[in-house]
Amino acid sequence: MLVQLIYRSRSRFTLTYQEIQALGSSWAEWNQERRVYGMLLYDGEYFMQVLEGEEATIDSLYARICSDVRHADIVLLLRDPIPHTHFDQWRVGALDMRDSLSLSSSARWAHWCATLGMQSHQEHRAARIVEAFVRGRWRDPVPAVAWFSEGGGRGDRRRGRAATSAAVSDGAVPMLGEGMARFALQPIVHTRDGRITSVEALLRGPQGESPQTVLATVPAEQMHAFDLHCKAGAIALAAALGLDCTLSINLLPMSLVGNPGAVDFLVQQCQRYRWPVERLMVEVTEEEAITHIDGFRSAVRQLRATGMQVAIDDFGAGHAGLSLLADFQPDTLKLDKCIIQGVHTSGPRQAIVRSVIEFCFCLGITVVAEGVETEEEWQWLQSAGVRRFQGYLFARPGFQCVPPVPWSSLLAIDKATHTQRQTRLPMV
Ligand code: C2E
Ligand code: MN
Ligand code: MN
Repeated sequence: MLVQLIYRSRSRFTLTYQEIQALGSSWAEWNQERRVYGMLLYDGEYFMQVLEGEEATIDSLYARICSDVRHADIVLLLRDPIPHTHFDQWRVGALDMRDSLSLSSSARWAHWCATLGMQSHQEHRAARIVEAFVRGRWRDPVPAVAWFSEGGGRGDRRRGRAATSAAVSDGAVPMLGEGMARFALQPIVHTRDGRITSVEALLRGPQGESPQTVLATVPAEQMHAFDLHCKAGAIALAAALGLDCTLSINLLPMSLVGNPGAVDFLVQQCQRYRWPVERLMVEVTEEEAITHIDGFRSAVRQLRATGMQVAIDDFGAGHAGLSLLADFQPDTLKLDKCIIQGVHTSGPRQAIVRSVIEFCFCLGITVVAEGVETEEEWQWLQSAGVRRFQGYLFARPGFQCVPPVPWSSLLAIDKATHTQRQTRLPMV
């Protein structure tokens, strides 16, 4: 299985430009032989390295790095299965960032995007973590501790054996639900770019009945099979509508964990309807995830190995949000409407949103604000740095269709708010 690993460390010695270059070439052959890819960034004090390759090779390489006395303060930022490598053109080349440190954070990121051949907006968490490093996050506010790694590496609690692939669902499980389930589609919008980044499929009955009503008609022992199998209908619908964005589906974690071959089933449905696996996102709620954490983790490893994405839904509504995030990082985090509603007038909500944005930025997680109903909420969230929104302000869920987003009136609101701010400025 291929994995991607990113760590940050503090260099015990200040290296010269020549030494950094020499580092890159010294391990080139070793990496090439073992098909290890990635890159290393150095800012004069800190390293950030992306490593990609076979699981066993990457783990033993990382163990060696952890016991290498040249590295202090090693922090593991990501270690996840991947379907294919992203950084193969870099062949673990070493890059010196020092010349760009005098630039502003945005100019520096633009410079490195050009150098690395990356787009400024990245869909992959790994690239977004690189962005956070380039923009100056991941430097410690405290001085280096006199700490030598004893091989294990602090923070590495996520190493584990690859989940053995579960049996492929071969039709032994009855194909429940495909016929009776319908879906309402609700856009998730990037308002600065003026585009729909994804569409969430919300379960409905044939007459538009709510998810609760539909699920209540399903016998308890068939619930998880139904929940999984009805998603074939959501994938078929998205494919039939020719959507060119991500499709988000909601699943109970037990629908993933309790159905043998659940991940394979989703992959098969993507193949069947020619929907790219990379454009399927599975949303689970934090509360449910935490109660089935072990099974959930191995299901997520399988999902990621196929290229599917994972979102934590309703963040802030459950009970264990932060402890879940400490051990598991999704691609997307959806802030629950209970945090969003009235955010423009609530100090505690604003403080919570600001800190969620900061930790998501540092960990390459995309933030989505759910349940945005008013212009004021949207404008406050946008000025705080949220870029993706879902809510009645942009579009209500459309039964078996993607409803239109009123872009021109949104643009007018955006412009009016900016003008207001600019005219108010001199008075402050
Ligand atoms: P969710 O995944 O958080 O979905 C968002 C819910 O918020 C949807 O309700 C949507 O209609 C509603 N919503 C969207 N924008 C706004 C807004 O601006 N204001 C307000 N007040 N509400 C808004 P819906 O469709 O009734 O779904 C409720 C929940 O049912 C979903 O919450 C999800 O947890 C669950 N659900 C939906 N489909 C499925 C499914 O296929 N499987 C499972 N297991 N659960 C599902
Ligand atoms: Mn959802
Ligand atoms: Mn939600």
